[in-house]
Amino acid sequence: MPRIILLGPPGAGKGTQAAQLAEAYGIPKISTGDLLRAAVQAQTPLGLEAKSYMDRGDLVPDAVVIGLIEEQLQSNAASSGWILDGFPRNVPQAENLSVLLDKLDQSCDRAILLDVPDDEIVQRMLLRGRADDREDVIRNRLVVYRQQTEPLIAYYSESTGLKTVNGNQTPDTVFAELKSAVE
Ligand code: ADP
Repeated sequence: MPRIILLGPPGAGKGTQAAQLAEAYGIPKISTGDLLRAAVQAQTPLGLEAKSYMDRGDLVPDAVVIGLIEEQLQSNAASSGWILDGFPRNVPQAENLSVLLDKLDQSCDRAILLDVPDDEIVQRMLLRGRADDREDVIRNRLVVYRQQTEPLIAYYSESTGLKTVNGNQTPDTVFAELKSAVE
């Protein structure tokens, strides 16, 4: 079963597509955004710490998300395959992931970039209307993406191998292209 990292700007549709891929391959979808929102909802200490960063559209501290990912990857459900959605989001997170995978005697099969132009992203997120989908917060998430996450495109092109799928197509077409990128 595959081990996949899904990269792409906020609002590209990673969450929706990752859920479908997870179902198709019978592997868990591990989303740091979902895990963080659940912690915020449950008002755990971790959630309380994360909330102010998320409200601003800034990255939550690396130690927090790396801890979450470590817990998920060590679980039995993730022993033979997984799809990461929203992690890693900067080079230090990617380096930590690589160390963690070595420790677990696993490796990532493929990184896939789900690419969508900025204008389309802003439109989509405004329609979605999540708590952190206010225009100023969206703009900040895009800046953070360009500065911190985009360097991962080069990082994974040189290590794991990276394929790009155009996310600006119908969800079914995107899904079909993602599946061929996995295989
Ligand atoms: P989107 O991709 O639409 O921005 P996510 O659910 O992936 O939505 O992320 C929402 C917020 O959660 C981010 O803006 C950030 O504050 C936080 N977050 C999610 N994943 C990470 C991560 N890997 N590192 C740091 N912060 C994260």
